[in-house]
Amino acid sequence: MSREYVLVTGGSRGIGRAITERLIADGMHVINFDKDAPTVIADHESFHQVDVSDENALRAELTAVTTSYPMTRLVNNAGIVRPANIENASIEDLHAVMNVNIAAAIICVQALLPAMKAAHFGRIVNISSRAALGKEERIVYATTKAGLLGLTRTLALELAADGITVNAIGPGPIATELFQSANPPGAPATQRILDSVPLGRIGQPEEVAHLVASLLDHRAGFTTGQVVYVCGGMTVGLSQ
Ligand code: NAD
Repeated sequence: MSREYVLVTGGSRGIGRAITERLIADGMHVINFDKDAPTVIADHESFHQVDVSDENALRAELTAVTTSYPMTRLVNNAGIVRPANIENASIEDLHAVMNVNIAAAIICVQALLPAMKAAHFGRIVNISSRAALGKEERIVYATTKAGLLGLTRTLALELAADGITVNAIGPGPIATELFQSANPPGAPATQRILDSVPLGRIGQPEEVAHLVASLLDHRAGFTTGQVVYVCGGMTVGLSQ
């Protein structure tokens, strides 16, 4: 069986790892761009070590892979968080987080567009966050994740005529290293988050991967410019 190729950023850990494993299980070949190697490189995975915040390195790596693989699917998943309120947020943090959470996504889309346009088919999924709707102590992170929604909607309009769909997913609290580093287990603020989830639990990376897989499917062609929250219901209302 010939496998279709998909580029996943940050595919070595957490949500990105679950996405990588799910897409491989679904019959795709994953090109994983991450600064760190996964614990085990899977069959049907090509790992490329790259810091996606380094524009020159990212563009060079993209040039190399786009000449080797016909990629018409992209998951912009790599993301970082630097928790701070407005008094403590620095512009240095803003630039650093923007480079990973937004600039890398734009650069990856630019690199894959020629193949998508040639195929008159493309699927792009951007991993935003429910923090895009507002979250205390996340001035920089929330700003970038909200920016990703504007990017998603604008790309959806610009690329619709080429058969390319662009959607975003907004995870709520998902059990990964990123979540635990920003929300230490046992901290009162962490407990407040968990208590407020209507489904009464933290989400699993595989539950985000399931929606990614669905939006990447050939049959998802009439869904574009949307954001779907995978958040246990917490963007709808707080638990009683
Ligand atoms: P994570 O920190 O567990 O994993 C992130 C992956 O991205 C890692 O493999 C890391 O090496 C890679 N990465 C980070 N910076 C990179 C860089 N500069 N270059 C290359 N690779 C880099 O994070 P996660 O929780 O799995 O988050 C994945 C995405 O989901 C992020 O965009 C995050 O903002 C979003 N998200 C997560 C949660 C959550 O609760 N975990 C909630 C909302 C949104």
